[in-house]
Parts: sequence; structure tokens; C-alpha cells
Amino acid sequence: MSTVVKQSRAVAINPTRSCAPIGAMLANYGIHGAITINHGSQGCATYPRHQMARHFREPVEVATTSLTEKTTVYGGKGNLLTALKNIVDRFNPTMIMVCSTCLSETIGDDIPGAIDEFQEKHPEITIPILSVKTPSYIGNHITGFDNFLTEIANSMPDKRKKKGETNGKINIIPGWVNPGDIRELKHIVREMGLHGLWLTDYSETLDGGYYEPRPHFARGGTTVEELRSSSKSLATVSLQPLIGGEAARIYERRYGVPGHVLTMPIGLANTDTFVETLTEITDHTIPEALQVERARLLDALVDTHMFTTGLRVAMYGDPDMLEGLVGLIAEMGMTPAYILTASENASWGERMVELTQGLGLESEIILKGDLHELHMRIKANPVDLVIGHSKGKFISDAEKIPLIRMGFPVEDRFGYHRRSIVGYNGAVSLVDEITNVIFERKATSVVSNTLVELGVEGPTSSPITLTNGNGKH
Ligand code: SF4
Repeated sequence: MSTVVKQSRAVAINPTRSCAPIGAMLANYGIHGAITINHGSQGCATYPRHQMARHFREPVEVATTSLTEKTTVYGGKGNLLTALKNIVDRFNPTMIMVCSTCLSETIGDDIPGAIDEFQEKHPEITIPILSVKTPSYIGNHITGFDNFLTEIANSMPDKRKKKGETNGKINIIPGWVNPGDIRELKHIVREMGLHGLWLTDYSETLDGGYYEPRPHFARGGTTVEELRSSSKSLATVSLQPLIGGEAARIYERRYGVPGHVLTMPIGLANTDTFVETLTEITDHTIPEALQVERARLLDALVDTHMFTTGLRVAMYGDPDMLEGLVGLIAEMGMTPAYILTASENASWGERMVELTQGLGLESEIILKGDLHELHMRIKANPVDLVIGHSKGKFISDAEKIPLIRMGFPVEDRFGYHRRSIVGYNGAVSLVDEITNVIFERKATSVVSNTLVELGVEGPTSSPITLTNGNGKH
């Protein structure tokens, strides 16, 4: 039976979460020519910039209002008004997003009011200027991303939609994923013969090429015109319930665009649901190319199940990613023994209990958890594999358990932002990676599809000792 617990320790030791502005900043990077102004002290811009640059290996540009002692006491409105004018004059952006910080929220700066005042003073400046609330003491990085999307859904789409008017596109909200994931999702949508309107698309802006001369703004990204027309789309598909689910509901409520909120398409069943949803929205059928990719994933699962069945996994990170990942873990015959997130979302915890039990799994779901908590559990009852971002490396090193890097940030490996974990192709890559890690960990040789374990020391609860190609011991 699965259980859900909430970590009660007041102090977080090795937290898994990042700060809220980084989520809004990441999402804003998916709008072509948009610039973020971080309204706070300089460190509140520097920390997210460094985190993003280390993960995406791209220069990350964010403006800051650089609040000081004086502006903290007397208010930072003046700095914000100056920053807005400087950014427009120097960069000529297509859009500006102002995100708050712990500091500006605590002193109570009225950011929307300052933006109104700026626009009244400068009627010649007609670009959209958005305000997104991102105090890090309410939620975390996923809250920042989601708040940005709800602001986009509320304020950007064109409300003057004629009855039956459509742009022929589907709004797709990938959520917190990597550029490689967005490219894989685009591939699926393209193969289906459909056109996606991506909310948002940082597949190029945060994983671009080298161009000379350097473009004024990074290539790619969703345009402001596309955001305007998103109220005329055929439907909205949000691929992460907690990041974008509310935006999909806003599109439905305010603009009559039907919303579909799905589980992140990791693994066979979750990807099937995504593809089937696209067929329900349109009359397009599933093309041969996707059927072949699906069959290849099924084959990979069959080929590897004898090596992975029964293994215990500890996973941590963002709730939406964990929810999707459970699908693939179950399809590989493994058990997610511990599922830990920094989120405190109780209804997500209940959903995960239902999900794991429905799949015949027994998991402990830990809310508001940190990596110290996970480490203690692994020490007491070891697992075979850890899955999560780079911050869990110390658990992997200390307990000699392989770490499959996934989520944000992955800063101690190169190119992880380019790979994909979604769709049939993403799942095949993950199946290969997980199986190869098991081979490295447990076997000194793999002979004719047979894994031979030669007494590798380490914490393993359900060892594969000798398995032949038919899965029989
Ligand atoms: S003070 Fe708040 S907003 Fe600024 S870096 Fe720290 S957590 Fe993030």
C-alpha cells in the first residue's frame, strides 16, 4: 500500500527546490525578444541566471532593479520606472516581464501600479509589460513558471474573437521541460500533421546555434503575435497539471478554447494519451512514423524487462515530472520506492497514492521533502537506482548507487538539456540509459542477452543474479 507523508522538519537540508523567479524567467525565455526585469536585489537575478547558465550552457540575460538599503526602506518604484525606460531604449524588446522577489513582495511594492504609471507616462511604448508575482516563500520555481503562464493566459490573447474564428493551431503547454523535450514534442505534433502554438518555446532560445553576426535576440521562441492569436486555437493541451493546468482552464473559461490537462508524456501509456488526445481534438489519425516509434519503445521494454524488473528506485524533483516518470518506471517493472518532492501539494500526494496503487506499486510519497530526508530513508532501506537532478549526487556517491540525472538543474554533466525524456523516442533513450547503468552496476559482463553479476558490493534490495534472455532464472 502506498503512503503519503509530509516532512515535518522546519529546516531544509539540501533542498530540491529552486526559487520562484527562475520559473518565470525560464518561461519568459520562450517568448521571442522578451526581456525579464527582476524587481529585487541583484542577487535575486544573479542566482537564477547562474543556475540557468550552468544547466543550459547558454548566456542568460536578465535585468534587475538592483534594490539597495535605501530603496528597501523607501520603496523600489523609482528603480523600476528607470529600469523599464532603460530596457526599452537599449534593447527594443517585444515584451517585458517584471517578476517580483522575496524582497519586493515583503516591502509591498505595487508592481502593476508602477507599470500602469509607466504606460501612462509613455503612451508611445506599446509593447506588453507583464507583472508576475514570484515571492519564493510562496511556492517555488514551479509556482513561478505556472504564475507566468496564468498571466499570459489572462492578459495576452486577443479577446475580440469572432464566432467560429480559428487559427487552426493547438496551444501546447509543455511545462518545465528541456529544449530537447520541446523539440521531441514538436516532432510528434508535426508527424500528426498539426500545428502547435507553444506556450512557451525555449527550444532554440536556450539551446541555440552559433551565428555570425550574433542576432539581436536569440533565434526562436513564440512571438507576441502568436500569443495574441492563442485565443483562436482549436484547443489547449497542458502536459503538466501543476505547470500550465490552470492556464489551460483559463483559455477554456475566458476564450472558449477547450482545455486538456494531461500527465507529462513520459513512457508508453502517457505518450499514448498525448497522441490520442491530439486525434480527439482533430480528425487526424496516428501516422505510420509514430506507430513505428511506439513499436520500437515496446520492443525496448520487452528486451530489457528481465534486467529491470523488481528493482527499487528513489526519485525526487518536480511533481509533474515524477508523476509522468512513474508510468515508465512501472512499464519497466521497477518500483518507485520513494517519491520525494519539495512541493506541499496534498492533492498531488493523494493522486500519486492512487496512481501507484492502481499500477500495483507500493511507494512512499514524501511532500515538502529535502535530499537529507531521502538519504536517511535510502540508508535505512536501500534502493538500486536514484533518479533526479544533480543535487542528489552526494547520495549516489555516499551510498554507491547510480544516479540517473533528470530534472533541473543538471549542472555536472554536459548536454542533458538537449536530450529528451518525453515521447516514444525519449522513453527509448531512458530505457537504454537505465538498463546500461544497471549493467555497469551489477554485471561484469553481458553475454548473449544474459547479465552475469559477479558479487558487486553495495546496497541492493532485489539483485539480479543470473538471468537469461527469456527472463527465466
Ligand atoms: S531572496 Fe528570494 S527571490 Fe531572491 S534569490 Fe533568494 S529565494 Fe530567490
